[in-house]
Amino acid sequence: MSGSDTFRAEVRQWLEANCPPSMRMPVKTDQDMVWGGSRITFHSADQRLWFERMRDRGWLVPGWPKAYGGGGLEPRELRILEKEMRALGCRQPQYNLGIWMLGPVLLEFGTEPQKLEHLVPMARGEVRWCQGFSEPSAGSDLASLRTAAVRDGEDFVITGQKIWTSHGDKADWMYALVRTDPQAKKQQGISFILLDMKTPGIIVRPLGLISGKSEFCEVFFDAVRVPARHVIGGVNQGWRVAKKLLEHERAAMSTLSSGAAPSFDMLTIAKSYLDAAGPVWRDRVAAALMDQQAFSLTMRRLQELMLAREDASGVSSIMKLVQTEQESAKHELLQQLMGQRALSLDSEGFTPEELAVCRFWLYTKSYTIAGGSSEIQLNIIARHVLGLPT
Ligand SMILES: Cc1cc2nc3c(=O)[nH]c(=O)nc-3n(C[C@H](O)[C@H](O)[C@H](O)COP(=O)(O)OP(=O)(O)OC[C@H]3O[C@@H](n4cnc5c(N)ncnc54)[C@H](O)[C@@H]3O)c2cc1C
Repeated sequence: MSGSDTFRAEVRQWLEANCPPSMRMPVKTDQDMVWGGSRITFHSADQRLWFERMRDRGWLVPGWPKAYGGGGLEPRELRILEKEMRALGCRQPQYNLGIWMLGPVLLEFGTEPQKLEHLVPMARGEVRWCQGFSEPSAGSDLASLRTAAVRDGEDFVITGQKIWTSHGDKADWMYALVRTDPQAKKQQGISFILLDMKTPGIIVRPLGLISGKSEFCEVFFDAVRVPARHVIGGVNQGWRVAKKLLEHERAAMSTLSSGAAPSFDMLTIAKSYLDAAGPVWRDRVAAALMDQQAFSLTMRRLQELMLAREDASGVSSIMKLVQTEQESAKHELLQQLMGQRALSLDSEGFTPEELAVCRFWLYTKSYTIAGGSSEIQLNIIARHVLGLPT
Protein backbone atom coordinates (compact mmCIF):
# COMPACT_ATOMS: atom_id res chain seq x y z
CA MET A 1 0.00 0.00 0.00
CA SER A 2 1.47 3.44 -0.98
CA GLY A 3 1.57 6.42 1.41
CA SER A 4 -1.35 7.98 -0.49
CA ASP A 5 -3.42 4.82 -0.17
CA THR A 6 -2.80 4.63 3.57
CA PHE A 7 -3.71 8.31 3.99
CA ARG A 8 -6.85 7.86 1.85
CA ALA A 9 -7.95 4.88 3.96
CA GLU A 10 -7.39 6.82 7.20
CA VAL A 11 -9.30 9.85 5.93
CA ARG A 12 -12.21 7.72 4.72
CA GLN A 13 -12.41 5.92 8.03
CA TRP A 14 -12.27 9.17 10.01
CA LEU A 15 -14.96 10.85 7.89
CA GLU A 16 -17.22 7.80 8.09
CA ALA A 17 -16.89 7.83 11.89
CA ASN A 18 -17.12 11.60 12.44
CA CYS A 19 -19.35 13.18 9.78
CA PRO A 20 -22.95 12.85 11.06
CA PRO A 21 -25.36 11.46 8.40
CA SER A 22 -27.36 14.72 8.33
CA MET A 23 -24.14 16.57 7.39
CA ARG A 24 -23.83 14.40 4.28
CA MET A 25 -26.94 15.90 2.65
CA PRO A 26 -26.76 18.61 -0.06
CA VAL A 27 -26.88 22.23 1.12
CA LYS A 28 -30.37 23.45 0.21
CA THR A 29 -31.06 26.48 2.35
CA ASP A 30 -29.15 29.20 4.20
CA GLN A 31 -29.81 27.31 7.43
CA ASP A 32 -27.68 24.44 6.12
CA MET A 33 -24.66 26.76 6.13
CA VAL A 34 -22.69 27.60 9.28
CA TRP A 35 -21.01 31.00 9.09
CA GLY A 36 -18.06 31.27 11.47
CA GLY A 37 -17.46 34.24 13.74
CA SER A 38 -18.26 35.60 17.18
CA ARG A 39 -22.00 35.24 16.43
CA ILE A 40 -21.78 31.71 15.04
CA THR A 41 -25.20 30.02 15.00
CA PHE A 42 -25.85 26.29 14.75
CA HIS A 43 -29.25 25.15 13.52
CA SER A 44 -28.79 21.56 14.74
CA ALA A 45 -26.66 19.57 17.18
CA ASP A 46 -25.08 17.74 14.22
CA GLN A 47 -23.95 21.04 12.67
CA ARG A 48 -22.16 21.93 15.91
CA LEU A 49 -20.62 18.46 16.23
CA TRP A 50 -19.33 18.45 12.65
CA PHE A 51 -17.93 21.98 13.01
CA GLU A 52 -16.18 21.16 16.32
CA ARG A 53 -14.72 17.87 15.12
CA MET A 54 -13.31 19.42 11.96
CA ARG A 55 -12.03 22.47 13.90
CA ASP A 56 -10.27 20.30 16.50
CA ARG A 57 -8.54 18.37 13.76
CA GLY A 58 -7.40 21.60 12.03
CA TRP A 59 -9.54 20.67 9.03
CA LEU A 60 -11.53 23.91 8.83
CA VAL A 61 -8.34 24.90 6.97
CA PRO A 62 -6.66 21.57 6.25
CA GLY A 63 -3.99 22.98 3.92
CA TRP A 64 -2.72 25.72 6.27
CA PRO A 65 0.41 25.11 8.37
CA LYS A 66 -0.19 23.71 11.85
CA ALA A 67 1.57 26.76 13.36
CA TYR A 68 -1.40 28.88 12.23
CA GLY A 69 -4.11 26.46 13.32
CA GLY A 70 -4.35 24.47 10.09
CA GLY A 71 -4.18 20.76 9.42
CA GLY A 72 -0.70 20.95 7.84
CA LEU A 73 -1.71 18.73 4.89
CA GLU A 74 0.46 18.59 1.76
CA PRO A 75 -1.33 19.56 -1.51
CA ARG A 76 -1.54 15.87 -2.46
CA GLU A 77 -3.17 15.02 0.91
CA LEU A 78 -5.50 18.00 0.60
CA ARG A 79 -6.77 16.72 -2.76
CA ILE A 80 -7.39 13.31 -1.18
CA LEU A 81 -9.36 14.85 1.70
CA GLU A 82 -11.43 16.96 -0.73
CA LYS A 83 -12.12 13.93 -2.90
CA GLU A 84 -13.17 11.77 0.05
CA MET A 85 -15.43 14.52 1.40
CA ARG A 86 -17.00 14.87 -2.04
CA ALA A 87 -17.50 11.10 -2.34
CA LEU A 88 -19.27 10.97 1.01
CA GLY A 89 -21.26 14.17 0.31
CA CYS A 90 -19.84 15.94 3.41
CA ARG A 91 -20.91 19.55 3.81
CA GLN A 92 -18.40 22.33 4.39
CA PRO A 93 -18.26 22.60 8.21
CA GLN A 94 -17.90 26.40 8.04
CA TYR A 95 -18.34 29.31 5.60
CA ASN A 96 -16.12 32.36 5.97
CA LEU A 97 -14.68 34.87 3.49
CA GLY A 98 -11.61 34.97 5.72
CA ILE A 99 -10.75 31.38 4.98
CA TRP A 100 -11.41 31.45 1.24
CA MET A 101 -9.86 34.81 0.45
CA LEU A 102 -8.00 36.62 3.22
CA GLY A 103 -6.22 33.61 4.75
CA PRO A 104 -4.32 32.66 1.58
CA VAL A 105 -3.09 36.24 1.02
CA LEU A 106 -2.07 36.59 4.67
CA LEU A 107 -0.05 33.41 4.29
CA GLU A 108 1.65 34.96 1.27
CA PHE A 109 2.01 38.64 2.24
CA GLY A 110 1.52 38.84 6.04
CA THR A 111 4.29 39.34 8.59
CA GLU A 112 4.74 36.66 11.26
CA PRO A 113 2.90 38.71 13.96
CA GLN A 114 0.03 39.43 11.48
CA LYS A 115 -0.28 35.73 10.65
CA LEU A 116 -0.35 34.71 14.31
CA GLU A 117 -2.86 37.43 15.23
CA HIS A 118 -5.33 36.73 12.42
CA LEU A 119 -4.86 33.24 11.01
CA VAL A 120 -5.13 31.33 14.28
CA PRO A 121 -8.61 32.63 15.27
CA MET A 122 -9.69 32.34 11.61
CA ALA A 123 -8.66 28.67 11.58
CA ARG A 124 -10.86 28.10 14.65
CA GLY A 125 -13.86 29.82 13.03
CA GLU A 126 -13.91 32.55 15.69
CA VAL A 127 -13.85 35.63 13.45
CA ARG A 128 -16.17 36.47 10.56
CA TRP A 129 -14.68 38.65 7.81
CA CYS A 130 -16.26 40.91 5.22
CA GLN A 131 -14.78 42.50 2.11
CA GLY A 132 -14.53 46.29 1.77
CA PHE A 133 -13.48 46.72 -1.86
CA SER A 134 -16.35 48.20 -3.95
CA GLU A 135 -17.39 51.84 -3.69
CA PRO A 136 -20.24 53.76 -5.36
CA SER A 137 -17.91 54.82 -8.21
CA ALA A 138 -15.38 51.97 -8.03
CA GLY A 139 -16.76 48.53 -8.94
CA SER A 140 -15.34 47.06 -12.15
CA ASP A 141 -12.84 49.92 -12.13
CA LEU A 142 -11.78 49.09 -8.58
CA ALA A 143 -8.53 51.04 -8.70
CA SER A 144 -10.59 54.29 -8.80
CA LEU A 145 -11.52 53.82 -5.15
CA ARG A 146 -11.53 56.98 -3.06
CA THR A 147 -11.85 55.94 0.61
CA ALA A 148 -8.90 57.84 2.12
CA ALA A 149 -6.49 56.68 4.80
CA VAL A 150 -4.26 59.44 6.19
CA ARG A 151 -1.29 58.61 8.41
CA ASP A 152 -1.42 60.10 11.91
CA GLY A 153 1.33 58.80 14.21
CA GLU A 154 0.95 55.04 14.67
CA ASP A 155 -2.50 55.01 13.03
CA PHE A 156 -4.28 55.60 9.75
CA VAL A 157 -7.45 57.71 9.89
CA ILE A 158 -9.98 56.39 7.37
CA THR A 159 -12.80 58.41 5.80
CA GLY A 160 -15.09 57.29 2.97
CA GLN A 161 -17.64 54.68 1.95
CA LYS A 162 -17.88 51.07 0.78
CA ILE A 163 -20.90 49.47 -0.90
CA TRP A 164 -22.21 45.94 -1.65
CA THR A 165 -20.40 44.69 1.46
CA SER A 166 -21.81 41.18 1.83
CA HIS A 167 -22.78 40.41 5.46
CA GLY A 168 -21.10 43.62 6.64
CA ASP A 169 -23.63 43.76 9.49
CA LYS A 170 -22.62 40.31 10.74
CA ALA A 171 -18.86 40.54 10.32
CA ASP A 172 -16.33 40.97 13.13
CA TRP A 173 -13.53 42.32 10.93
CA MET A 174 -13.18 43.76 7.42
CA TYR A 175 -10.31 43.62 4.96
CA ALA A 176 -10.42 46.79 2.90
CA LEU A 177 -8.70 48.73 0.15
CA VAL A 178 -7.96 52.36 0.98
CA ARG A 179 -6.17 55.19 -0.81
CA THR A 180 -2.99 56.10 1.06
CA ASP A 181 -1.35 58.20 -1.68
CA PRO A 182 -3.77 60.41 -3.64
CA GLN A 183 -0.91 61.79 -5.80
CA ALA A 184 0.35 58.41 -7.10
CA LYS A 185 -0.88 56.59 -10.24
CA LYS A 186 -4.18 55.06 -9.15
CA GLN A 187 -3.04 51.43 -8.67
CA GLN A 188 0.08 52.56 -6.84
CA GLY A 189 -1.57 54.66 -4.11
CA ILE A 190 -3.66 51.86 -2.59
CA SER A 191 -3.12 49.94 0.68
CA PHE A 192 -4.74 46.75 1.94
CA ILE A 193 -5.78 47.13 5.58
CA LEU A 194 -7.60 45.10 8.23
CA LEU A 195 -10.11 46.76 10.54
CA ASP A 196 -12.15 45.73 13.54
CA MET A 197 -15.84 46.44 12.77
CA LYS A 198 -16.34 47.62 16.37
CA THR A 199 -13.96 50.57 15.86
CA PRO A 200 -15.70 53.92 16.60
CA GLY A 201 -16.76 55.79 13.43
CA ILE A 202 -17.85 52.72 11.39
CA ILE A 203 -21.53 52.83 10.41
CA VAL A 204 -23.12 49.80 8.68
CA ARG A 205 -26.44 50.12 6.81
CA PRO A 206 -28.14 47.03 5.28
CA LEU A 207 -29.41 47.31 1.64
CA GLY A 208 -32.46 45.61 0.01
CA LEU A 209 -32.40 43.08 -2.87
CA ILE A 210 -34.84 41.95 -5.60
CA SER A 211 -34.90 38.35 -4.26
CA GLY A 212 -36.46 39.47 -1.00
CA LYS A 213 -33.46 38.68 1.15
CA SER A 214 -30.40 40.87 1.37
CA GLU A 215 -26.83 40.20 2.39
CA PHE A 216 -25.64 43.62 1.24
CA CYS A 217 -24.60 46.59 3.33
CA GLU A 218 -23.20 50.05 2.86
CA VAL A 219 -20.34 50.81 5.23
CA PHE A 220 -19.39 54.39 6.11
CA PHE A 221 -16.11 55.44 7.72
CA ASP A 222 -16.09 58.67 9.67
CA ALA A 223 -12.48 59.36 10.80
CA VAL A 224 -11.94 55.72 11.78
CA ARG A 225 -8.60 55.21 13.54
CA VAL A 226 -6.84 51.97 12.54
CA PRO A 227 -3.35 50.93 13.72
CA ALA A 228 -0.83 51.08 10.85
CA ARG A 229 0.40 47.59 11.81
CA HIS A 230 -2.82 46.27 10.21
CA VAL A 231 -1.60 47.18 6.69
CA ILE A 232 -0.83 43.96 4.77
CA GLY A 233 1.96 43.77 2.19
CA GLY A 234 3.28 47.33 2.74
CA VAL A 235 1.83 50.85 2.47
CA ASN A 236 0.87 51.70 -1.16
CA GLN A 237 1.46 48.03 -2.12
CA GLY A 238 -2.18 46.97 -1.69
CA TRP A 239 -3.04 46.48 -5.37
CA ARG A 240 -0.90 43.35 -5.78
CA VAL A 241 -2.43 41.92 -2.55
CA ALA A 242 -5.94 42.73 -3.87
CA LYS A 243 -5.26 41.09 -7.26
CA LYS A 244 -4.13 37.93 -5.52
CA LEU A 245 -7.15 37.96 -3.23
CA LEU A 246 -9.46 38.30 -6.24
CA GLU A 247 -7.84 35.19 -7.75
CA HIS A 248 -8.80 33.29 -4.60
CA GLU A 249 -12.32 34.77 -4.67
CA ARG A 250 -12.78 33.68 -8.29
CA ALA A 251 -11.41 30.23 -7.58
CA ALA A 252 -13.84 29.90 -4.65
CA MET A 253 -16.73 31.00 -6.90
CA SER A 254 -15.79 28.22 -9.31
CA THR A 255 -16.95 25.65 -6.76
CA LEU A 256 -20.52 26.94 -6.42
CA SER A 257 -22.16 23.88 -7.95
CA SER A 258 -20.08 21.38 -5.97
CA GLY A 259 -21.97 21.94 -2.75
CA ALA A 260 -20.23 25.20 -1.79
CA ALA A 261 -23.48 27.16 -2.10
CA PRO A 262 -27.15 26.25 -1.81
CA SER A 263 -28.17 24.74 -5.13
CA PHE A 264 -30.57 22.20 -6.53
CA ASP A 265 -30.11 18.74 -7.88
CA MET A 266 -31.44 19.64 -11.29
CA LEU A 267 -32.25 16.08 -12.28
CA THR A 268 -34.36 15.39 -9.18
CA ILE A 269 -36.52 18.48 -9.76
CA ALA A 270 -36.62 18.15 -13.53
CA LYS A 271 -37.89 14.55 -13.35
CA SER A 272 -41.20 15.72 -11.87
CA TYR A 273 -41.82 18.03 -14.83
CA LEU A 274 -40.17 16.32 -17.81
CA ASP A 275 -42.92 13.84 -18.70
CA ALA A 276 -45.40 16.64 -19.25
CA ALA A 277 -42.81 18.92 -20.89
CA GLY A 278 -41.73 16.64 -23.79
CA PRO A 279 -38.52 15.59 -25.58
CA VAL A 280 -37.14 19.06 -26.40
CA TRP A 281 -36.99 19.83 -22.68
CA ARG A 282 -35.40 16.44 -22.03
CA ASP A 283 -32.59 17.38 -24.44
CA ARG A 284 -32.08 20.79 -22.85
CA VAL A 285 -31.86 19.31 -19.34
CA ALA A 286 -29.47 16.58 -20.54
CA ALA A 287 -27.24 19.18 -22.23
CA ALA A 288 -27.16 21.29 -19.03
CA LEU A 289 -26.25 18.26 -16.93
CA MET A 290 -23.48 17.28 -19.36
CA ASP A 291 -22.09 20.84 -19.20
CA GLN A 292 -22.12 20.62 -15.43
CA GLN A 293 -20.26 17.30 -15.45
CA ALA A 294 -17.71 18.54 -17.99
CA PHE A 295 -17.07 21.63 -15.88
CA SER A 296 -16.55 19.63 -12.73
CA LEU A 297 -13.94 17.40 -14.46
CA THR A 298 -12.17 20.40 -16.03
CA MET A 299 -12.23 22.14 -12.66
CA ARG A 300 -10.33 19.30 -10.99
CA ARG A 301 -7.65 19.49 -13.70
CA LEU A 302 -7.40 23.29 -13.39
CA GLN A 303 -7.07 23.10 -9.61
CA GLU A 304 -3.87 21.09 -10.08
CA LEU A 305 -2.68 23.70 -12.59
CA MET A 306 -3.41 26.54 -10.16
CA LEU A 307 -1.38 24.83 -7.44
CA ALA A 308 1.61 24.76 -9.75
CA ARG A 309 1.38 28.27 -11.25
CA GLU A 310 2.58 31.62 -9.96
CA ASP A 311 0.10 33.77 -11.90
CA ALA A 312 -3.24 32.03 -12.02
CA SER A 313 -5.37 35.11 -12.71
CA GLY A 314 -6.33 33.95 -16.19
CA VAL A 315 -7.20 30.43 -15.02
CA SER A 316 -9.34 31.59 -12.09
CA SER A 317 -11.15 34.04 -14.39
CA ILE A 318 -12.00 31.28 -16.88
CA MET A 319 -13.27 29.02 -14.11
CA LYS A 320 -15.30 31.80 -12.47
CA LEU A 321 -16.81 32.92 -15.80
CA VAL A 322 -17.87 29.45 -16.93
CA GLN A 323 -19.17 28.31 -13.54
CA THR A 324 -21.26 31.40 -12.76
CA GLU A 325 -22.73 31.61 -16.27
CA GLN A 326 -23.54 27.89 -16.10
CA GLU A 327 -25.20 28.14 -12.67
CA SER A 328 -27.24 31.10 -13.87
CA ALA A 329 -28.30 29.23 -17.05
CA LYS A 330 -29.17 26.10 -15.05
CA HIS A 331 -31.53 28.00 -12.76
CA GLU A 332 -33.00 29.87 -15.75
CA LEU A 333 -33.76 26.49 -17.38
CA LEU A 334 -35.33 25.12 -14.17
CA GLN A 335 -37.43 28.23 -13.85
CA GLN A 336 -38.66 27.92 -17.46
CA LEU A 337 -39.37 24.20 -17.03
CA MET A 338 -41.42 24.75 -13.88
CA GLY A 339 -43.28 27.72 -15.38
CA GLN A 340 -45.47 29.61 -12.95
CA ARG A 341 -44.70 27.12 -10.18
CA ALA A 342 -41.31 28.86 -9.92
CA LEU A 343 -42.59 32.40 -10.05
CA SER A 344 -43.32 33.19 -6.42
CA LEU A 345 -41.05 34.43 -3.67
CA ASP A 346 -43.47 34.12 -0.77
CA SER A 347 -47.09 33.44 -1.87
CA GLU A 348 -49.28 30.75 -0.30
CA GLY A 349 -49.97 27.59 -2.32
CA PHE A 350 -46.32 27.01 -3.29
CA THR A 351 -44.03 24.36 -1.80
CA PRO A 352 -40.85 25.47 0.04
CA GLU A 353 -38.84 23.99 -2.85
CA GLU A 354 -40.75 25.99 -5.47
CA LEU A 355 -40.24 29.21 -3.49
CA ALA A 356 -36.54 28.38 -3.14
CA VAL A 357 -36.13 27.75 -6.90
CA CYS A 358 -37.56 31.21 -7.59
CA ARG A 359 -35.27 32.82 -5.00
CA PHE A 360 -32.20 31.09 -6.41
CA TRP A 361 -33.16 31.83 -10.01
CA LEU A 362 -32.95 35.51 -9.07
CA TYR A 363 -29.92 35.12 -6.81
CA THR A 364 -27.76 33.27 -9.35
CA LYS A 365 -27.93 36.32 -11.61
CA SER A 366 -25.72 38.06 -9.04
CA TYR A 367 -23.05 35.33 -9.39
CA THR A 368 -22.10 36.76 -12.77
CA ILE A 369 -21.45 40.17 -11.17
CA ALA A 370 -19.89 39.34 -7.76
CA GLY A 371 -16.10 39.00 -7.70
CA GLY A 372 -15.88 40.92 -11.01
CA SER A 373 -18.56 40.72 -13.71
CA SER A 374 -18.48 38.30 -16.66
CA GLU A 375 -17.43 41.16 -18.95
CA ILE A 376 -14.46 41.92 -16.70
CA GLN A 377 -13.46 38.22 -16.67
CA LEU A 378 -13.60 38.25 -20.49
CA ASN A 379 -11.30 41.30 -20.49
CA ILE A 380 -8.82 39.51 -18.19
CA ILE A 381 -8.91 36.35 -20.31
CA ALA A 382 -8.39 38.40 -23.49
CA ARG A 383 -5.37 40.13 -21.96
CA HIS A 384 -3.72 37.48 -19.77
CA VAL A 385 -4.65 34.21 -21.46
CA LEU A 386 -5.02 35.07 -25.12
CA GLY A 387 -2.56 38.00 -25.14
CA LEU A 388 -4.89 40.13 -27.26
CA PRO A 389 -4.01 43.84 -27.63
CA THR A 390 -5.88 46.18 -25.25
C1 LIG B 1 -23.70 38.93 -4.75
C2 LIG B 1 -22.68 40.02 -4.72
C3 LIG B 1 -21.84 40.12 -3.61
C4 LIG B 1 -20.90 41.15 -3.55
N1 LIG B 1 -20.15 41.25 -2.41
C5 LIG B 1 -19.24 42.25 -2.32
C6 LIG B 1 -18.46 42.39 -1.12
O1 LIG B 1 -18.62 41.63 -0.16
N2 LIG B 1 -17.56 43.38 -1.07
C7 LIG B 1 -17.34 44.24 -2.11
O2 LIG B 1 -16.45 45.08 -2.01
N3 LIG B 1 -18.09 44.15 -3.25
C8 LIG B 1 -19.03 43.18 -3.37
N4 LIG B 1 -19.80 43.08 -4.51
C9 LIG B 1 -19.68 44.11 -5.56
C10 LIG B 1 -19.05 43.60 -6.85
O3 LIG B 1 -17.67 43.41 -6.70
C11 LIG B 1 -19.37 44.65 -7.93
O4 LIG B 1 -20.77 44.68 -8.08
C12 LIG B 1 -18.72 44.32 -9.25
O5 LIG B 1 -17.33 44.45 -9.19
C13 LIG B 1 -19.26 45.23 -10.38
O6 LIG B 1 -19.16 46.57 -10.02
P1 LIG B 1 -20.44 47.55 -10.11
O7 LIG B 1 -21.59 46.89 -9.44
O8 LIG B 1 -20.00 48.88 -9.61
O9 LIG B 1 -20.78 47.63 -11.66
P2 LIG B 1 -20.08 48.55 -12.74
O10 LIG B 1 -18.61 48.50 -12.58
O11 LIG B 1 -20.73 49.89 -12.73
O12 LIG B 1 -20.46 47.80 -14.09
C14 LIG B 1 -21.74 47.95 -14.70
C15 LIG B 1 -21.76 47.12 -15.98
O13 LIG B 1 -20.74 47.60 -16.89
C16 LIG B 1 -19.89 46.54 -17.29
N5 LIG B 1 -18.51 47.05 -17.41
C17 LIG B 1 -17.87 47.89 -16.56
N6 LIG B 1 -16.61 48.11 -16.97
C18 LIG B 1 -16.43 47.38 -18.10
C19 LIG B 1 -15.34 47.18 -18.99
N7 LIG B 1 -14.16 47.76 -18.78
N8 LIG B 1 -15.52 46.34 -20.04
C20 LIG B 1 -16.71 45.72 -20.26
N9 LIG B 1 -17.80 45.89 -19.45
C21 LIG B 1 -17.67 46.70 -18.39
C22 LIG B 1 -19.97 45.52 -16.17
O14 LIG B 1 -19.66 44.22 -16.62
C23 LIG B 1 -21.43 45.65 -15.75
O15 LIG B 1 -22.23 44.85 -16.59
C24 LIG B 1 -20.77 42.08 -4.61
C25 LIG B 1 -21.60 41.97 -5.72
C26 LIG B 1 -22.54 40.97 -5.78
C27 LIG B 1 -23.44 40.91 -6.98
